[in-house]
Amino acid sequence: MQHRTSSAEIFRRSCQVLPGGVNSPVRAFSEVSISPLVVESGRGDRIWDVDGHSYIDYCGSWGALILGHTHPDIMGAVQHQLKKGSTFGIATAVEEQLATLLIKLIPSLDKVRFVSSGTEAVMSAVRLARGATGKPFIVKFAGNYHGHSDGLLVKAGSGVSQLTQSSSKGVLEDIAKYTLCISYNDLEGCQNLLRSRRDIAAVLVEPIAGNMGVVPPAQGFLEMLREETKKNGALLIFDEVITGFRVGLRGAQGLYSIDPDLTCLGKVIGGGFPAAAFGGKSIWMDELAPLGGVYQAGTLSGNPVAMVAGSATLQHAMQEGFYEILQAKIDRLAAPIEGFLRKSNLPVCLQRVGSMMTLFFGVRQVRNHEDLGSLDREAFSRFFRFLFERGIYIPPSQHEAWFISMAHTEEHLDKTNRVILEFLSTFT
Ligand SMILES: *Cc1c(COP(=O)(O)O)cnc(C)c1O
Repeated sequence: MQHRTSSAEIFRRSCQVLPGGVNSPVRAFSEVSISPLVVESGRGDRIWDVDGHSYIDYCGSWGALILGHTHPDIMGAVQHQLKKGSTFGIATAVEEQLATLLIKLIPSLDKVRFVSSGTEAVMSAVRLARGATGKPFIVKFAGNYHGHSDGLLVKAGSGVSQLTQSSSKGVLEDIAKYTLCISYNDLEGCQNLLRSRRDIAAVLVEPIAGNMGVVPPAQGFLEMLREETKKNGALLIFDEVITGFRVGLRGAQGLYSIDPDLTCLGKVIGGGFPAAAFGGKSIWMDELAPLGGVYQAGTLSGNPVAMVAGSATLQHAMQEGFYEILQAKIDRLAAPIEGFLRKSNLPVCLQRVGSMMTLFFGVRQVRNHEDLGSLDREAFSRFFRFLFERGIYIPPSQHEAWFISMAHTEEHLDKTNRVILEFLSTFT
């Protein structure tokens, strides 16, 4: 086992001043039984901890860093902007530039509004949907994560709707009851729900689930959502905070050819800085203040440093062959593991779409949140430590996606699948 004395000491001190020692719960490593990583720096596909160990990074700030760490073009754009000023709280040209780029690339967007986090983007899109339709309820899917606003920290008690139950203390029942939660990929359940009610403002979905590990939409699931919401009069909101510019230039909506009414973006569009956005057709977006009566605002919204970092990232994504290269990288990592799993009879599965994947232990397929009930937590914990000790960092939870960036080298991808195969071949 490596010595990580500085990490342990910093974490110990952090625990005295930050609840759990962290500013976001998963960073506390509760599922993997070791002292958390305390990072010092990153470059390309690697990060260094405060004790000087390096790790090949498959978290990439939860998918935000599609070009890898400290990409020179992003650093250059940011430094150039910093000389002019970091924030004004006044309109800037760079906001218009990134907005124009987003609208050009994603046809379902006429207009966007920038915010600082994915949480804000989804929370505001839901308010807009309610304001525009005048209806109170929203539908979400168990295991989909849409940030930590009150009404969205809700998962199903069981099966279909009504039995909504908040997944956090402090969320009022009176708020949680307006969130109807059903099983992901449950075509029939969702169809029945939408056909039986007229009080639904929006259906909110991760078009490829990334927050219960990677779970692709079942055949026909997104098409059903599009058709039934249209008939119902509810808006269809795609939460593409992960999938936007991750699985393609048009996100999951391009991959599956579905036009949602509203789209939420985050992570990649900030290029590693705090930026997110929501957008859609003008008839909805013009309901926002100052044009309409749905209020929404932010001191750092459209922050110019984040805007130029996002634009620099998208300039890369727009280059010919960008997503093909990314696909070839994940194929190189995943194909040998998939080959091994096909031949073995292990209860382990690898699920992936584009450059996001998850290796699940204890299950042969994950279609929804209920399937996660039989996950083998102990095996994952051992697996995580096995990789970590060999200089490979994956998200410290099976409920998360791993992200491949343009910075991942063939050498590091090959090393990673060698180490994974070594673990799997001793796995009992
Ligand atoms: C990360 C994420 C969010 C929340 O974004 P934050 O920037 O962490 O607030 C919302 N939706 C999805 C699908 C996400 O993955």
